[in-house]
Amino acid sequence: MNLLVLEDNPDHLELTLEMLNDSYGTHAQIHSCSKLAAAIDYLANHRVDVFLCDLQLPDSPVANTVARLRDLQDAPPIIVLSSLNDEQLAQELVKHGIQDFLPKDELSPSLLVRACNYAIERRKLSRALLDKNADYQAFCYSLTHDFRSSLWQIARACEIFKAKTRTCYPDDHQMPWQYLDKVPARVDDIQRLVDDLQSYLALDAVPASFGPCDLTQSAHNAVDLLADTIDLSGVSIAISPLPAIVGSSVQMQLLFSNLIGNSVKYNHSETPCVSIYIAEQNDQQAVIAVRDNGIGIPAKLRERIFTPFERLHTKDEYPGSGLGLSIVRRIAQYHGGNIQVASEPGEGSTFLLRLPLPQG
Ligand code: ADP
Repeated sequence: MNLLVLEDNPDHLELTLEMLNDSYGTHAQIHSCSKLAAAIDYLANHRVDVFLCDLQLPDSPVANTVARLRDLQDAPPIIVLSSLNDEQLAQELVKHGIQDFLPKDELSPSLLVRACNYAIERRKLSRALLDKNADYQAFCYSLTHDFRSSLWQIARACEIFKAKTRTCYPDDHQMPWQYLDKVPARVDDIQRLVDDLQSYLALDAVPASFGPCDLTQSAHNAVDLLADTIDLSGVSIAISPLPAIVGSSVQMQLLFSNLIGNSVKYNHSETPCVSIYIAEQNDQQAVIAVRDNGIGIPAKLRERIFTPFERLHTKDEYPGSGLGLSIVRRIAQYHGGNIQVASEPGEGSTFLLRLPLPQG
């Protein structure tokens, strides 16, 4: 086993090495350094099974070390050994992939060895899950790709067949044209299902990259994406300034396009309108409302609509896959938030998206 220890205090280093040597003996090769830059350089050039790391270093204060540890690509499991007994920092680090946070004054040989062994096993498990996820993603991709191309061929074959038979038998009223006429709409249904299924599965398979995300921009991008549908329905859309969050702009755009798309689709008002605004906000979180004056939703069905494939209407009444709101709920949950709906039949619906705001 290869261990890397980053520790600038010679007494602490001696103690840690003693504990590790006593426990692992010749089973572990231990390399130590006292500066973050040297440790990062060592990691880039050597195989390391566990990286034991102090946070306060001569070339890096705590905040910088934390940021660098978070950004380390393909790093081995990291265990922080710290004089700071800061539970909040510990939780924050673990959330960002650090395996363990051990206060130095609680260290013992058995605790240290157990933490190293468990960290290695957990890492193996998460690698195996990531590999499975990658296989799953490749499988979904090729499945949806094959579906799309077969669908396109079926639709095209039907079109050609219809055109040819119409030319050959223009006055034959026995020909069952009505069946062929149904093909394009059914092909569109399956196409929509394949697209939505791919978006739904991709949420799990592709880790979203989180960064600064301006929700006003995400909502406007969603409107641009739906421009044709919006123009056709004559709906007016008002977007008030929304907060910025830390999140995935791609996912937030997908979330708004599903909510806005539904507000337009399930709406027969003479003056259809959708408004997007902040319903509530404090230091911790914001509640964003997406309100429409559409057909509304009966109270007892309001929770059901967030379940995959739950639809309150047939495809002939309204096209759809029944996946839009489950995509919305998953995205809200990935961002540490949730989504609810307030609605009355005939009075429109207000979807309330609760999201945490960046702290500090
Ligand atoms: P889809 O629209 O593809 O059916 P969704 O998951 O987006 O799937 O929505 C699930 C169901 O919730 C819809 O079938 C519809 O009955 C209902 N619904 C969603 N949004 C609205 C809305 N804004 N107004 C009324 N009903 C809605």
